[in-house]
Formats: sequence, structure tokens, C-alpha cells
Amino acid sequence: MSVAINEIVTYCQQLLEPSKFKDYCPNGLQVAGRDKINKIVSGVTACQQLLDAAVLAEADVILVHHGYFWRGEQQNVVSIKRNRLQTLLVNDLNLLAYHLPLDAHHSLGNNVQLANKMGWKICSGMNGELGEALVLLGETAKAMYAGELSDQLARVLNRQPLHIAGHQREIKRIAWCTGAAQSFIEEVASTGVDAFISGEISEQTVHLARELGLDYFAAGHHATESYGVQALGEHLAEHFSIEHEFINIHNPV
Ligand SMILES: [Zn+2]
Repeated sequence: MSVAINEIVTYCQQLLEPSKFKDYCPNGLQVAGRDKINKIVSGVTACQQLLDAAVLAEADVILVHHGYFWRGEQQNVVSIKRNRLQTLLVNDLNLLAYHLPLDAHHSLGNNVQLANKMGWKICSGMNGELGEALVLLGETAKAMYAGELSDQLARVLNRQPLHIAGHQREIKRIAWCTGAAQSFIEEVASTGVDAFISGEISEQTVHLARELGLDYFAAGHHATESYGVQALGEHLAEHFSIEHEFINIHNPV
């Protein structure tokens, strides 16, 4: 089976509603390629390695969470940007990117997908309704000490998290946000949860966690954001009866 790229884009726009978000990049079709689509390759970031792998895998669309044209970046098409765009254009590949809409989506989003993998109960969004909130509030499957939560994160994400202890109690109520969400830590602490799980960490996050009395887990930006794009790719493949392959380009951060 094959489907026109415009059908896929229109469907994604309706599904993910990017106009609801104030994002730092354009969401949707970032680079247009061939019209007829048989295969989607998904990945976390549209780096050169993913583009090269997608060409080898005979992709028609590359679907990513981190695409191009970020606010404030240099606009000239030189250096890395030239190389990446050249690979897409020469190979007639479409680049389809969804950033915040794919973090927040109520079933396919990175936050909900991470909760499903970890067995977390979702209670509400911290700063908006489920489907729009970027930070979710919920509970672990059972009360556990930090070491046990660390072990579970390591098992599920295949990567040892960095744990900063804010207290010695058991953890049950949690907040989480995939990617680089350490700057939400003070807002999260004000909700009274036992722990905050995100992808990245900054120097000051350590002091904030200790002084706020909140356990913090940096579980990896790439690792925590590997599932939304896979879920969307699977969903599109099923909906349009086309092929989908997720290609994981290792990234320890
Ligand atoms: Zn991200």
C-alpha cells in the first residue's frame, strides 16, 4: 500500500493539534520530499546518522521529535544544516517533525508513553489538561525507595539514571516530564510530590532538589523521548497500512 504525503500530514495535524502549543520550532512537514509514501522511518532527532540510516532503510518519510529550524538558530544553510538538507533533498525524503505536541499528546505522547512503560498512574496535568500539559502528576505502582525507582528506570530505559536525593522517605506521588524539564523543579515541588523525573539535569538542579526536599531523577533526554515518536510511527503505519521502522541512534544524554 502507499499513501500521499499530504494525507499523512493532514491526519497528523488533526491528531496532534500543534496550534494549541507555543513551540520553538515548526511542527508538521518541515521538508517536502516525494509524494507517494510506503515507509516511515522514525527516530528521536533528525541528525545526520538518522538521515543516512533512513536512506539505507528506503524510507519515504523521516518522522522525528527533534527536527530543524529552532527559534534563534542561525538561518544560513551552511555546514551541518546544509549537509542534512542536502541528504533530504537529494534523496527526495520528507521530514515530518512534532515537538511539544508529541510530548503532551494524551495517548501517543512521550509523557504518557513513559508512564505506560513504567506502570505509573496518571492523575492530572500539572500546568494544564491532559493532552496539553507538559508536566504530568501521578503515582508509582507502589511506594518504593529511591534505589528501587532508579533500578526500574534503568531497566526500562536501558540507561542508569542520575538520582539526587531530597529526602529519605519512600516515593509514591511523582511528577514527570520527558526531555529537558529541570527548570520546572520549583513549580513541581510546590505540588507536594515525592519525586520529579525528567531527562536532563543542570548544576543548580542538584541544590534545588536538596533544598526543596524533592527527589530528582535525570533519566536521559534521548531515553525518555524515545517512545512517543515510535507510538506515532506505529499508529500511522496501522492507520494507512504502510511500513514503519524505528531507528535508534544511541545518545547517552
Ligand atoms: Zn526533547
